Amino acid sequence: MKFAFEPLGFPYDGLEPHIDKETMIIHHTKHHQGYVNNLNAALEKHPEIQYDNLESMMLDNIKLPFDIRTAVINNGGGVFNHNFFFSTLKLNENGRPSGKLLEDIETTFGSFEAFKDAFSNAAKTRFGSGWAWLIQNHQGGLEVVSTPNQDPVLPLGKPLLGLDVWEHAYYLKYQNRRPEYIENFFHVIDWDKVATRYQS
Ligand code: MN
Repeated sequence: MKFAFEPLGFPYDGLEPHIDKETMIIHHTKHHQGYVNNLNAALEKHPEIQYDNLESMMLDNIKLPFDIRTAVINNGGGVFNHNFFFSTLKLNENGRPSGKLLEDIETTFGSFEAFKDAFSNAAKTRFGSGWAWLIQNHQGGLEVVSTPNQDPVLPLGKPLLGLDVWEHAYYLKYQNRRPEYIENFFHVIDWDKVATRYQS
């Protein structure tokens, strides 16, 4: 079983000035490509493994052969997370959602600003490498969570919005200023994409 390296849906400089071109090139062609290569190399050892898609394989990871389970969790998680992250990025005008998504965010968190604080706090306080997420949990509610490393978020619920806070995602431009990167992330969220995921 082999997974594809998905192309970016926008030019490498398409998120400037918030996420710089150099970071996007390295993030996509080195880090993301690396996760794809390592995942495929692990799966080559076990041609009997067949799933319809990456999501079902990640949710079923307890059944994977022991000798490749960790590699599949780390690199399959990396592939899933980056496909998800890159496909949610787009320069936006006013930086907020609309419609039912906005209403439910306001009901759940009190206001859009309060949601932004909760999400930003999850991203700032994720120790080391990992991700902050807005998910729809198994009860159907909106929730902010964070995950370490490339651990799969799917067991917690359906991801709607994710932010990569590994240093490779921001260090060239922001160095140690992770909070500034998080603040600027709100300029490059494709809220239409997030809303589509919420409705589906
Ligand atoms: Mn990354």
